[in-house]
Amino acid sequence: MKYACKYTPIELLAGFGMKVELLNPTAENYELSDQYIHSNVCSYSRSIIEERLRDCCDPIILTSCCDSIERAGDVLKTLGQEVYILNLPHHNDNCCSKLLYQKELLKLIDELSKALNREFDVEKFYDSFDYGGEEISGPYVSVMGARINSDLLELIKSESPLPVKNNTCTGIRSVEKPPQTDDIEELMALYSDALLSQIPCIRMSDISKRRDLIEDPNLRGIIYNTVNFCDFYTFEYSKLKSALDVPVLKIETDYTMLATEQIKTRLGAFYENMITKKIKTPTCQTYYAGTDTRVALNDRSPMTSSHIYYAGIDTGSTSTNAVIIDDKKNIISFAIVPTGVKVAESAQKALDEALRKTGLEIGDISKTVATGYGRARIDFRAEDVTEITCHAKGAYFLNPKVRTIIDIGGQDSKVIRLDEKGNVTDFVMNDKCAAGTGRFIEMMAQSLQLSLEEMSSYGLKWDEDIAISSMCSVFAQSEVVSLIASDKKLEDIVHGINNSIASKIVALGRRGKLEREFIMTVGVARNIGVVRAFEDKLDAEIIVPEEPDICGALGAALIASEI
Ligand code: SF4
Ligand code: SF4
Repeated sequence: MKYACKYTPIELLAGFGMKVELLNPTAENYELSDQYIHSNVCSYSRSIIEERLRDCCDPIILTSCCDSIERAGDVLKTLGQEVYILNLPHHNDNCCSKLLYQKELLKLIDELSKALNREFDVEKFYDSFDYGGEEISGPYVSVMGARINSDLLELIKSESPLPVKNNTCTGIRSVEKPPQTDDIEELMALYSDALLSQIPCIRMSDISKRRDLIEDPNLRGIIYNTVNFCDFYTFEYSKLKSALDVPVLKIETDYTMLATEQIKTRLGAFYENMITKKIKTPTCQTYYAGTDTRVALNDRSPMTSSHIYYAGIDTGSTSTNAVIIDDKKNIISFAIVPTGVKVAESAQKALDEALRKTGLEIGDISKTVATGYGRARIDFRAEDVTEITCHAKGAYFLNPKVRTIIDIGGQDSKVIRLDEKGNVTDFVMNDKCAAGTGRFIEMMAQSLQLSLEEMSSYGLKWDEDIAISSMCSVFAQSEVVSLIASDKKLEDIVHGINNSIASKIVALGRRGKLEREFIMTVGVARNIGVVRAFEDKLDAEIIVPEEPDICGALGAALIASEI
């Protein structure tokens, strides 16, 4: 039998000789479950249905945790599956609840005795208690929040520089063995008390004991897991984030592993931020061009007297960029090449191109750091570092007054916040939807039959302030097609598109906390119409580097010079 909730009386099931296992499937997709349950039901509930419909039909036991899980149970029952739903009280702090749950346990014993034609074995019950907690001494990272699938937990562990504790809703099941008694009613009263006295999940009425999860001097960081369409845990995340000194990263999963690369990037940046404050954050005031919103790069002489050079490679979805610096942190050369299907080849090409411009050879490069989505595939790297850390490094180097980086790439967009020392204090990413990314602008340019250069300049020549309200790229495209059909001026439509991008990203970065100075990096920073839309939204000037694409590679080269 499989169970879903830590309040499930698994020791009682063991008393009937049943083997139990946590029901925690990773879904590949939701093709089958979508036929039976709406896609706005929590992903965990859908993953159970998907798994059951594919190849499982062993009985499951659920609790009345929430509407989603009850709906999943109902669907499975309708489809003829064996599902038992325990009525779990909301209160964990009063006698009535414990009495209510005792009755549920007695009812379960009764039903199992009849169904299995077997007596409840008290000895087996007592023997099955296992505290099973993870013993970690010393500093650790805690995964908190909603349940997490084992594949994602393994990913978090494998990327972490510290041991990881699973403190999610089902990760910390610890039920104390009740005192010895042969009276089943009394035993179930004691057992009910023990089950409801565990460190509570957020669904319970009294969650004060959850403090134990955060008041620990060894806690170094929290990865806060939420599941799509589950509302229980968002509130706790917001409170923790503002109340704690340790860094907190929120991840949201749909119970598939389709976003593994993006999650890896988030984890990588989070761990780097947690432990690499020792990387010094150099600044170079000479790159800061006073009140001019464009940042000039230093003159790139073909060679300097230095003999030590470092390279940074940034493999983005659209372009692969290489930067070479010398030991004085002068930019010696850079190159931008399109990212082909073979990431490693594009990286080599970008570096060769940057070397060619200087007359240097590969042997002259002392160390190379790789960043970007394809960073792990670059064999000649000394290290790989996430693009979040590298962009922060590069942007702060270009202008140490920068506190907010707006990075809109081909496939994703990020808002990265820095402190006065250039450390990443927070970041948010949109990597799920094309809206608010370079891809969105390309789609709109196609619909309007404009080049990207025209998209940039048209946005400055608008008359009518048109709002594109759809936040989804597909619906926004339909909206644009309707505007074309109603003879709206192209310039006004482009301005509306630019505003919709700025609104989406500013909302992503939660405007209240966005601090000046702002810098825009990566390709979309070349679109002056989008830059102006951001300036209007933020009521602030946006710094645009002379070469916005190379900020990440520059940061990688700087890190190479320090490791
Ligand atoms: S949130 Fe609480 S009640 Fe719901 S499954 Fe998790 S542990 Fe059980
Ligand atoms: S993830 Fe949230 S909505 Fe889904 S079953 Fe758990 S508590 Fe309920």
